[in-house]
Amino acid sequence: MKISDILVEKTPHLSFEVFPPKTDAAYEGVLKATEAIAELKPSYMSVTYGAGGGTSKNTVKIASHIKDKYNVPSLAHLTCVSSTKEEVHQVIDQLKASGIENILALRGDIPQESEFPLPNHYQYAYELIEDIKSQGDFCIGAACYPEGHVESEHKKDDIAHLKQKVDCGVDFLTTQMFFDNNILYNFLYRAREKGVTVPVIPGIMPVTNANQVKRILSMSGTNLPERFKAIVDRFGDNPKAMQQAGIAYATDQIIDLFANGINHVHVYSMNKPEVAAAIQANLSEILNK
Ligand code: FAD
Repeated sequence: MKISDILVEKTPHLSFEVFPPKTDAAYEGVLKATEAIAELKPSYMSVTYGAGGGTSKNTVKIASHIKDKYNVPSLAHLTCVSSTKEEVHQVIDQLKASGIENILALRGDIPQESEFPLPNHYQYAYELIEDIKSQGDFCIGAACYPEGHVESEHKKDDIAHLKQKVDCGVDFLTTQMFFDNNILYNFLYRAREKGVTVPVIPGIMPVTNANQVKRILSMSGTNLPERFKAIVDRFGDNPKAMQQAGIAYATDQIIDLFANGINHVHVYSMNKPEVAAAIQANLSEILNK
């Protein structure tokens, strides 16, 4: 099923994300976590993609498994910056052969050790989107950044690039994580004003341990509201308390998004079925589950 068909539904829905293992030895553990999340019957599940290509085969394999065994629509991420166009085309062929209908088309982070762009490589996500569009009938998603992408000096340029990307054939957008919903509402206003009209799915990250916070800050520079910092300060040293507080914070954010008219929220559940299940249970009446 295409995600664009799910997004027309006007009732609250959640989707969850998993990431593939970096090594074959870790595959079974990831599969088990994926299956436990699929059993929650989210509206769809996304499977991330290693920018270096190392986990690409597992992305396709896990996305197929979710769809075939659990009948949960799957969204395969695909990055392009570290692969040749031929390599990317091979993955698109595999996705097509596996009956995966949804691709999140991403550039990936620029590898620090090589020149950019490499010959016969992609430079921006819009080039990948044009390629996917020409290779089959996929529902195509792309990334957006409510606080601006880290490489963009000006938010207005970032939105102009987003508009260009969407116009290449994007069916929906998923946001980077954010911890202050006002940032999302402000971004939606600016994006709509500039003609970005496709559905935007907010991405919510339940922060369940204090180390995650350092990683988030170094990767994305996301603004951390005082209320969030107070939680990490108070409970960061107590893993169980931090998990409970992180789930509560994410639940609060999601309720506010639903209350403000958003119908679909993507949860960065990070291979943690217990976190996905707790958030779903907190919202059981709202989700009718
Ligand atoms: P682009 O849309 O190409 O944008 C990258 C930068 O280039 C931006 O600053 C943009 O403003 C600028 N730009 C775009 N077009 C132009 C242009 N024509 N001229 C000049 N500048 C331009 N990474 C992974 O490795 N694997 C994943 O599975 C993954 N999943 C993600 C899921 C989501 C929802 C998000 C938000 C991010 C994800 N990422 C993932 C991270 C992503 O790959 C990085 O953020 C990457 O740096 C940018 O990818 P993009 O597709 O947004 O790039």
